[in-house]
Amino acid sequence: MGKVIAVANQKGGVGKTTSAVNLSACLAYLNHKVLLVDIDPQGNATSGVGINKADMDQCIYNVLVEDLEAEKVCVPTNVEKLDIIPATIQLAGAEIELVPTISREVRLKKAIDSVKDNYDFVIIDCPPSLGLLTINSLTAADSVLIPVQCEYYALEGLSQLLNTIRLVQKHLNKELMIEGVLLTMLDARTNLGIQVIEEVKKYFQDKVYKSVIPRNIRLGEAPSHGQPIILYDPKSRGAEVYLDLAKEVIANGERVRERN
Ligand code: ADP
Ligand code: MG
Repeated sequence: MGKVIAVANQKGGVGKTTSAVNLSACLAYLNHKVLLVDIDPQGNATSGVGINKADMDQCIYNVLVEDLEAEKVCVPTNVEKLDIIPATIQLAGAEIELVPTISREVRLKKAIDSVKDNYDFVIIDCPPSLGLLTINSLTAADSVLIPVQCEYYALEGLSQLLNTIRLVQKHLNKELMIEGVLLTMLDARTNLGIQVIEEVKKYFQDKVYKSVIPRNIRLGEAPSHGQPIILYDPKSRGAEVYLDLAKEVIANGERVRERN
């Protein structure tokens, strides 16, 4: 049964989509069957794996709001073993349309539960907010991966995210765990990045991944070619580090299984 990981941080531009797309593609490259779920109306993860949003007449919106079967919107991507449930701008309405509906917080969970046996990992790319779409993601997930950008105010706002995680644990998903904290966009030329790493490690301790994502031009370019880094430039530093991260995620899963 697939492990469901939500990539969440209500701040925009911290590397959620880049990490969701590239972690998914690297897990698939390492021979795992992966489903990427785009739950951000901007649909950046969808275009990041080569899907033309204009060609899509159905997306995660129809699953959440109209009860369409999830299996009907799982489509293959340009990476072998990686499928995606796409998002289009239609999803922008869901945040409000879901408010008066029954079991509005568990709609994504029901959808993912119906397909997760087909996959080893399900990775959810969350929008930059703590609204109903992110709550749905945290409710559907086994764990949360939190990307934190290596910049001055890195930890700011994380208490709100942690608070939301605690509320979801209390009311909707008792089993939700923190999968790990991923430091992103490290600029190796400055001392600031190193200071931020130390600060984040002091706070999250062994939850911080050893793989730290550098600022890498190729990672920034890949989305405009509709390709994960492992296709766009497999020899780049960005590809290497996301592969290392995928190996850490796999190893963490094995460690947890051994403990139980
Ligand atoms: P979020 O999903 O949190 O809003 P994104 O993953 O979309 O953040 O990243 C924001 C922008 O920064 C995008 O244009 C992306 O291509 C770029 N970016 C993300 N990570 C890196 C990186 N490690 N190196 C260079 N550019 C990056
Ligand atoms: Mg994003």
